[in-house]
Amino acid sequence: MLETRTGSRLANLWDEARASKMSESERLLYRSNLLGSDKRITNYGGGNTSAKVMEKDPLTGEPVEVLWVKGSGGDVGTIKLDGFATLYMEKLEALKKLYRGLDHEDEMVGYLPHCTFNLNPRAASIDTPLHAYVPKKHVDHMHPDAIIAVAAASNSKELTARIFGDEIGWLPWKRPGFELGLWLEKFARENPNAAGVVLESHGLFTWADSAKECYETTIRIINRAIEWFEQETRGKAAFGGAVVDTLPAAERKAIAAQLMPAIRGMISASERKVGHFDDQDAVLEFVGSRDMEKLAALGTSCPDHFLRTKISPLVIDFDPAKPDVEKTLAGLPAALETYRQGHAAYYERCKQPDSPPMRDPNAVVYLVPGVGMITFAKDKATARISGEFYVNAINVMRGASTVSSYMGLPEKEAFGIEYWQLEEAKLQRLPKPKPLAGRVALVTGGAGGIGRATAARLLADGACVVLADIDEEALAAAEAELGKKSGSDFVRAVKLDVTDEAAVIGGFAETAVAFGGIDILVSNAGLASSAPIEETTLSLWNRNMDILATGYFLVSREAFKLFRTQKIGGNVVFIASKNGLAASPNAAAYCTAKAAEIHLARCLALEGAEAQIRVNVVNPDAVLRGSKIWTGEWKEQRAAAYKMSTDDLEEHYRSRSMLKRSVFPEDIAEAVYFFASEMSAKSTGNIINVDAGNAQSFTR
Ligand code: NAD
Repeated sequence: MLETRTGSRLANLWDEARASKMSESERLLYRSNLLGSDKRITNYGGGNTSAKVMEKDPLTGEPVEVLWVKGSGGDVGTIKLDGFATLYMEKLEALKKLYRGLDHEDEMVGYLPHCTFNLNPRAASIDTPLHAYVPKKHVDHMHPDAIIAVAAASNSKELTARIFGDEIGWLPWKRPGFELGLWLEKFARENPNAAGVVLESHGLFTWADSAKECYETTIRIINRAIEWFEQETRGKAAFGGAVVDTLPAAERKAIAAQLMPAIRGMISASERKVGHFDDQDAVLEFVGSRDMEKLAALGTSCPDHFLRTKISPLVIDFDPAKPDVEKTLAGLPAALETYRQGHAAYYERCKQPDSPPMRDPNAVVYLVPGVGMITFAKDKATARISGEFYVNAINVMRGASTVSSYMGLPEKEAFGIEYWQLEEAKLQRLPKPKPLAGRVALVTGGAGGIGRATAARLLADGACVVLADIDEEALAAAEAELGKKSGSDFVRAVKLDVTDEAAVIGGFAETAVAFGGIDILVSNAGLASSAPIEETTLSLWNRNMDILATGYFLVSREAFKLFRTQKIGGNVVFIASKNGLAASPNAAAYCTAKAAEIHLARCLALEGAEAQIRVNVVNPDAVLRGSKIWTGEWKEQRAAAYKMSTDDLEEHYRSRSMLKRSVFPEDIAEAVYFFASEMSAKSTGNIINVDAGNAQSFTR
């Protein structure tokens, strides 16, 4: 982030004692990870690093010069050694003879695999020539906001000279590829004392003959830009100053909770989208400013930025001085349609005979004055990262427009990158999305045995999951464990009591802000109780009714409201019980409440069908392992009822079942998955018993 406060300098983190013990390739890795660990130096996945290293040729045993360069699609902050492509320098040099000129530069990418050293399977990226031909051993290519702000100013050449003198050169915008590699080589040879170049509208290249010197040069050059901006922008209002007031945090969230499901429903026709909300200070300053609309329309500049954010965001018509969310919601369909038509017109204006087909024309970034920024993408991590990239773009616009005028890329150039065949090939190579990718599920009782196993199952197939539970400690443990396994982007925890109407409404609002909406509700929070009817107190009866019947009603009602806002269907799965179908002695309150759940599911299946909302039931029985129900009184009461020790209960239930098998939380989760996924697209109002067979609970 481009910070203009004192103390915003990048620290030199190089530890020579450590680095001196490393091999040259390990030092490249060390340098890359250090650079990528600070997002002010380069954004996620942006930029690349390289080293030209002498290696032993496996074919001849002779020493040979090898280019180690970040491979296609990696991130320098988290890259490991196997993330680098390795190529023979001699062969890369030989490619110059094959180069037929600018009109044919894309074909050069096809030759790169022929230059592979040591059968390394990591694909070389299109940026490889930008490193290969610079006549220095080490090259860094970074996307620091402070430098892109220089690169995106209308007088960027002049600014570069003013800030860096002869140390850093300047090259006009050129799409990364073979030609740019040759330009960089020419510049470096003609300016042997230069330490790098600013590439217009793009970023920074720096080089040196040792890894340490290269790292220190990169840091020093970025720091100089940060310092220069500090001096130049001191006391100047960014973006023409504020024109609207920022709403308080709780109101911002409440508005996002209403807008996000509505937008999500309108842009999820071809694939489900997941949302992200960001109201950090940099965003609020921009969305409240006089120049926001004008600057946003100019589009992001750095190719890395607009590949993630689309060239321009959609500014939502909302006046924080007179908040009228209903009016904004009513205007959304037309605003989104205008954006889509704008993208289609841009595609038609710029397309070439060999351009790939138009992609999803919907906006990625939505700016809401006084409220913040909403981003949508095919999964949560991509939505979050797209937001981070737009914050980079905001920082760039702030810097460039304060010291000069900000300049986007010419439309044709931007199109050339966005619909570049090599970019398309990269997209085509991406793995097929998982079956629940882009889906959002809320699991009540998500910190319990069956709830946790269900969340894990849905996460494994790509869903985002909100765990809702009353048990705060178990909730935190479940969130940490599942987040570690599936990625923290995918899991959120909300503490709520399903019997508390306001808390349930709040929990669904939190879900809408966390992920943009909801597709799947698993109503599972529960308890078990046992008492003969004469000893069943009113409070025990009410407790069962409150949690099981009323709780299931409350969460279903809120899910239905969100489903109806989104208008893209919905899916409800109730975890009821064998006891909802089969009467059991000494458990009238529990059995009756479970029967109410099952009938509620049938009623909701009927009501939801016309809106493609499906409602189904899974009935577990005797799931002892992992269940908190089976650690308390219930277990003792059941053991006493059967006149056996608690240790013998699992075996008792196993041998009582028709299939003579124990039932585990994972077995219940599998049935939930079936109902929650498209595998059961044509089923609603149904029941699956997962009880290892029990004739009493056969459905009729
Ligand atoms: P569990 O106790 O491990 O999990 C239930 C979870 O619900 C707990 O984390 C608990 O904190 C939460 N919860 C309780 N009251 C809540 C409330 N008011 N608001 C929010 N959360 C609340 O039990 P489990 O075995 O995983 O049970 C899950 C569901 O399966 C329950 O509905 C239960 O009745 C049903 N079921 C379980 C079995 C079994 O043998 N385990 C059999 C039939 C039905």
